Amino acid sequence: TYPPVSVIGLGMMGSALARTFLKEGHQTTVWNRTPGKADALMKQGAKVASTVNEAIAASPIVVICVLDYGALHEILEEAGELLVGRAIVNLTNGTPAQARRTAAWVTHRGAEYLDGGIMAVPQMIGTSGALVLYSGSEKVFQTYQPTLKGIGGVNYLGEDPGLAPLYDLALLSAMYGMFGGFFHAVAMIRSEQIKAETFTSLVVPWLQAMSGSLPLMAQAVDAENHQTDVSSLSINQTAFSNFIEVCGELGISNELMIPIQGLINRGVAEGYGADGLSRIVELIRNPVSV
Ligand code: NDP
Repeated sequence: TYPPVSVIGLGMMGSALARTFLKEGHQTTVWNRTPGKADALMKQGAKVASTVNEAIAASPIVVICVLDYGALHEILEEAGELLVGRAIVNLTNGTPAQARRTAAWVTHRGAEYLDGGIMAVPQMIGTSGALVLYSGSEKVFQTYQPTLKGIGGVNYLGEDPGLAPLYDLALLSAMYGMFGGFFHAVAMIRSEQIKAETFTSLVVPWLQAMSGSLPLMAQAVDAENHQTDVSSLSINQTAFSNFIEVCGELGISNELMIPIQGLINRGVAEGYGADGLSRIVELIRNPVSV
């Protein structure tokens, strides 16, 4: 149950992963382009490989977490024959197409490929708060599930290696949308010298209450029926001019609001004024040619 693990890439995330494998009792071999970053891990019992090949040769499962796919390929290209028979678990952030291309590349060289999207910050690694989405080789996922569970919760999405990055980027898109809305709201409040912290005590329950409407919107999207008894795109269009006007009054940027207004306006212009806000999903899926 404790197979040796190699960790390639000892940035903030890779170091947290290696520390966790060590704590869990795995013989852990690490490699990083800049050698100094392995020092602390060595003191905690990690074996430090002096080459990528040494790291790959040390374990049946090789976890890679580097900056991007460019870095990942530079590393893997050094490995050659050593990849044969290994499980490559790539936790580097990328796109579905990058993951699919890399899976094909790795598989062609005789290794098996599992892609993972880490839904956590390094401080959460090894706790129940961390979730990692996986896709790609089910065999790798099943074989090494106990090892992977050391990192945090696991969610296997299917054999298509592009699924984990697709879900990862989609979840992060939702997060950035929420952060963007919050930043804009706080900028409004601060322009009247009100404390952000005081205001935020209202924002959190408000967003929690509003998130309750997401499953209904998802239902409308799946049913391709955006009829509403909540609020129509037309009424939102009318209200939205206030959101833009207030930016001028407060002397703040409207950069975050303009794209939302643009989508609402396009929906009304395309004849969907009576539909609910969930129609915006279809508008995003059918972009106007640019
Ligand atoms: P860091 O910037 O801390 O580390 C980047 C790592 O990539 C370093 O080990 C660096 O090596 C290595 N690297 C960069 N370029 C190359 C190269 N050309 N060849 C070899 N190694 C290279 O980033 P993180 O650890 O935070 O992030 C790593 C991955 O994890 C990213 O894909 C990120 O999106 C993902 N991630 C990070 C999260 C976080 O909260 N930090 C959350 C979820 C995912 P060197 O030390 O030599 O520079």
